[in-house]
Amino acid sequence: MTEAKYQPETLALRAGTERSQFHEHSEALYLTSSFVFDNAEQAAKRFIGEEPGNIYSRFTNPTVTMFEERLAALEGAEQCVATASGMSAILSACMGLLKAGDHVVASQSLFGSTVNLFNNVLKKFGVETTFVSATDVAQWQAAVRPNTKLFFLETPSNPLTEISDIAAIAAVAKSANALLAVDNCFCTPVLQRPLQLGADIVIHSATKYIDGQGRVLGGAVLGSKKLMEPVYGFLRTTGPTMSAFNAWVFLKGIETLKLRMEAHSANALQLALWLEQQPNVARVFYPGLPSHPQHALALKQQKTGGGIVAFEVKGGKAAAWKVIDNTKMLSITANLGDTKTTITHPATTTHARISPEARAAAGISDGLIRIAVGLEALVDIQNDLARGL
Ligand SMILES: *Cc1c(COP(=O)(O)O)cnc(C)c1O
Repeated sequence: MTEAKYQPETLALRAGTERSQFHEHSEALYLTSSFVFDNAEQAAKRFIGEEPGNIYSRFTNPTVTMFEERLAALEGAEQCVATASGMSAILSACMGLLKAGDHVVASQSLFGSTVNLFNNVLKKFGVETTFVSATDVAQWQAAVRPNTKLFFLETPSNPLTEISDIAAIAAVAKSANALLAVDNCFCTPVLQRPLQLGADIVIHSATKYIDGQGRVLGGAVLGSKKLMEPVYGFLRTTGPTMSAFNAWVFLKGIETLKLRMEAHSANALQLALWLEQQPNVARVFYPGLPSHPQHALALKQQKTGGGIVAFEVKGGKAAAWKVIDNTKMLSITANLGDTKTTITHPATTTHARISPEARAAAGISDGLIRIAVGLEALVDIQNDLARGL
């Protein structure tokens, strides 16, 4: 189908679909590690790239290709490279686009493993990273060096839902001749399209909302054909490829992504408003709330506030654990983006490896709780939280 002609709702259902000789309606799952050639000459032509077609599923697989084309259509990207997880998407983007001696400017409000990747893994290979405020554009400008190649951010951030100004940071990156990569995991293309705001690369952990039902791991890197060529080259050689089965699960997930993101957002906004009324809640962090310091910017660059709400209870860790331990329905788990609501205490789980001082500087207090709001009835989520509050 000619993708430009269709609305996002339609693309989510139909973009990328390729039918086999059997004319199946639903996308086929090709569980095969390799592909058979008609003759030796065809094999030779495939291997030197003279003839398009599948060779081996570390390189390409038809189910994975359907997923890549569907997500690319939704993000408005020329190309998508699917990966085994969100972390391998970030690794593949960095390994494909950076080399020893390059410098990265990154938001200090990043997913924990992403911080480790920059600080510990890439550093070993001669790539240095400077961490700056997610929200203060002047810090991004000030951190630029002659060898700066990449800017990296995620917005809204985890768990405090800080909003980075994608267009403003993209302009700084452009003037520094650097690329801007945005981890769009929290919003998905349904709520935010970073490439349209000036970013060069979009990263996904498909594990979260794209699956949306907590089943499989996967990731994606998206951007221009030119930028994706070395990213794909890294993947094809080193192998953190998306499995066909997972691609098939994600294809189905994308079909309901818009409905789910709207429902997550609606529930999250109502829960955030309710939390603001609770006497034992000191503060609520949600971009859709008028009290959020970047509410106006959030609603300029994303359609809704999204599905993640954080709040601080009075009484520190003991009070936060009391809320968590008094829930009967919510899932106590670090995952997010699931139809089932999840509850997390960042200070002792996702952010436990950070020093108490660094945690305090990042605003992650011992009383902070993160909720990835699911699709249960709002009243049931409220009642589950009310017990411990
Ligand atoms: C979970 C997550 C990742 C990592 O994704 P995996 O699929 O777990 O490897 C990266 N970025 C963000 C914002 C995430 O929430």
